[in-house]
Formats: sequence, structure tokens, C-alpha cells
Amino acid sequence: MKRRPILAIDGPAGTGKTTSARLVARRLGFAYIDSGALYRAIALAAYRAGIESAEDDSIIPLLARLPVRAALTHRAFRVTIGAEDVTDRLREPEVSQLASKLAVRPDVRDRVVEWLRELASMGPAVIEGRDIGTAVFPKAELKIFLTASVAVRARRRALELAERGIEISEEQVARELVERDERDSRRAIAPLQRAPDAFEVDTSAIDVEGQVARILEAWGARIRPKRRPFYRLEQWLVRTSVRLIHGLEVRGSESVPRAGGVILVANHKSYLDPPLVGSLLPRETAYLAKRELFSNPVARLWLKNSNAIPIDRAGFDREAIDRSMNVLREGCALLVFPEGTRIRRPGFGEPKEGIAMLAARAEVPIVPVHIRGSWPEERRRLRRPKVRIRFGRPFLLEKVPAGRAGRSRFPGIAREIMDRIAQVERESPLESETRTP
Ligand code: C5P
Repeated sequence: MKRRPILAIDGPAGTGKTTSARLVARRLGFAYIDSGALYRAIALAAYRAGIESAEDDSIIPLLARLPVRAALTHRAFRVTIGAEDVTDRLREPEVSQLASKLAVRPDVRDRVVEWLRELASMGPAVIEGRDIGTAVFPKAELKIFLTASVAVRARRRALELAERGIEISEEQVARELVERDERDSRRAIAPLQRAPDAFEVDTSAIDVEGQVARILEAWGARIRPKRRPFYRLEQWLVRTSVRLIHGLEVRGSESVPRAGGVILVANHKSYLDPPLVGSLLPRETAYLAKRELFSNPVARLWLKNSNAIPIDRAGFDREAIDRSMNVLREGCALLVFPEGTRIRRPGFGEPKEGIAMLAARAEVPIVPVHIRGSWPEERRRLRRPKVRIRFGRPFLLEKVPAGRAGRSRFPGIAREIMDRIAQVERESPLESETRTP
């Protein structure tokens, strides 16, 4: 089974694993996997079958025929038993306690580990648990170990339970947390412990955004995406020639995430735009290029080296969309020109809906990019403008429902994306824009 990139987040209950793992998965465009939910699902099924202790061996036949399934997205991890979606029942206190009791059994752990490895073979994932970095994926690309004081953890858990209508005092929650921590840390197989190479984050005094920022920072530092030598050479050639011939001004490229799926959306004026924008980033970037360009053998070589994906501009090109989705799922950057073609007049063109569909399906961060001067509108003037590329801050779309309801939102999303590009232009000052040739 092929293993994809893994970010493991381990730690005791109430340290903010679930919240931060979900958000990190969303920001990176990775699947989110909650290993605790699988132990809990087994516990719920066992509870319903009248099993209440780890010594009860009637769990053996139950494990063999357990119809538990998990659905992966980077927003949620939904678990079903048979046809019933049990996700919302898994956090109930009886289920928590029984889960940690059953989690000492080797047969239960083997079953969950097998599930986790299957799930993680489907794509890059953020996985939260107790033993992900130590026992399940000891070669994970990044391991995070979250900690927090018992008081803070109990307060968080009590609040979370209260929101679900379960009223328990903080003291009671604290007692149960400590009991569970002890059992999880003392068990013989895969106990809760920090992997020696894990990056520890104490969340007692930082909020969710702070936790997420620390984890993403650690991921960015660990995963320096490699650029092939020919790709680097091509980047250097493009950048240097534009700088020498036209002059080049770049702002904001540091706001482009260093790892994980990301869509860069830019206005389009010139053939120069795709290789130029790609040449300014410290990671490889793919882009869509019209299929006709691939018929010339020299151009084809160049396009392939720069990760271009051929697209038929007439009608809907499903293959190009699928290949773009794969690029994003692999955790790469994709540059898209929503106008679909070069606009050789001042201002912007109408966006195509394809970008909205791609962005809605991919659910990865989107970075607006404004390009100016790659096609000089004032060509005949003596003082011609520099080429100016300005990267805006990443943003996320709101969740788009599937089916017709979602499709009806595509025109609005496409316009929002163009507005974001226009906003980057408005925010960048116009000084120092001209140079004397
Ligand atoms: O993380 P969560 O609180 O949902 O986990 C429930 C229980 O499942 C834990 O108390 C622990 O006993 C068990 N578990 C485990 N190994 C994991 C994840 C959870 O033993 N990787």
C-alpha cells in the first residue's frame, strides 16, 4: 500500500487535537482522520452489544464482523455503523471511558491500525490520536505532540459537552480525563507518549489560531518541497530575462503557503504570465495551458517541464479538471487564470465558471495574484511600466453544497474570485511603477 504524506497530531484528551487537526487539514488540503473516533465506534458497538469491560472476549466475534465505515474529507470525519451515522454519539462520556478501556486490547488496536493504514493510503492526511507518531506511522513527515494543563483541558471538554446538552461539572470531567490519561499512558501496547522527534506545543495559553499557526509553521519548515534542477533552471531563466528586459517588481510572495494544495488565481494578459508567476515561488507550481500549445515539440518539452496541464478551451474538459484536482490532492500548487484567456485590453475579462467548480471541489486555500505590465498597455510610451506581480493573502471559500444547489453558486464564486484579484490591485500603491528604458 502506497503511503502518502502524513502529519501526526498526538496528545491527551482536551489539548485541542480535534480542532487544530481539522483546521490544519483544511488549510493544507489534506484529509482529516480521527483515530479516536474509530476506537469510539468500536466502543459504541460493544456497548450496544452489552460489552462493558476489556476482559469480555465476546468482542472478538464482534470485531470480525463490525460494519464500521469512515468517510474522509478535510472538514470532518464521519463514522457509520451499518447504515447509521454515529459520529455525533461518539463523544458521550460512557463511550469515552469504554473506548479507552477497550483500547488496551491488542486485537482492538490491530483492527484500528489496519483501518488507519487503509485510510491513509488514499491521500495526504492529518491524523490525530495517541500513538500515531510512535506506533502507527513512525515515519510520518511531521509529528506534533499537544499538551495542556489538566484544568484547561477539563474546562474545554466541559464546555464542549455542555454545548451538546451534556451537563457535567469541570471537576468530574477532570477526574475522568486523568483516569483516561493514566490508562492510556500505562498500557503495555502503544501507550500515549511523545515520540522523540515530535514537535511539542503546549496549548494551555494559546488559542486555536495560535495552535494552527504553530503547526503549519512546523510543517512548512519540515517539508521543503523539492524543485527539480531543470525546473529551477527554467524559473531562473524566466525571472532573470523579465527582470533584465522589462524590470520586475514582486510583492507578497511570502504569503503563499509553502506546502499543501493551494490554488493561485491571477488575471491574464500575456503568454509570459504562467511561467513568470511560477518562477517567483520557492515551490513547483502547475498550471493549465491550452492544448494547441502542446502540438509544437519544443513548446511541449518546456510545458511538460513546467508542469503544464493541457486543457481544451471549447466546452468542458473533465480530464483537465480531474488532473488539476489530483495535483491539488498531492499537495501541490496550481495556477489558474479565471478569465480563461489573455485579456489584451485594460481591465479584467469575465471569469469562467470552471474556476468556481475547481475551487469548490478542492476546498484548499486560494491566493489571489495581480499581474500588471506583462502586456504593456502603454507600449508606445517612452517610460514603459515594469512587470509587477503582487500576491494577496490566502482565503478559503465557504462550504459549497454538492449537486444543483452548489452549481447555482458557481457564477457568484467566480465573481468573488475576480473581485479578490481586483482587491489586490487596489491595495497595491502605484509609485515606483515606471522605469526609463
Ligand atoms: O482521542 P479520543 O479522546 O477521541 O480517543 C478516545 C480513546 O481512544 C482514548 O482515550 C484512547 O484510549 C483511545 N485511543 C488510542 N489511540 C489512538 C486514539 C485513541 O488508544 N490513536
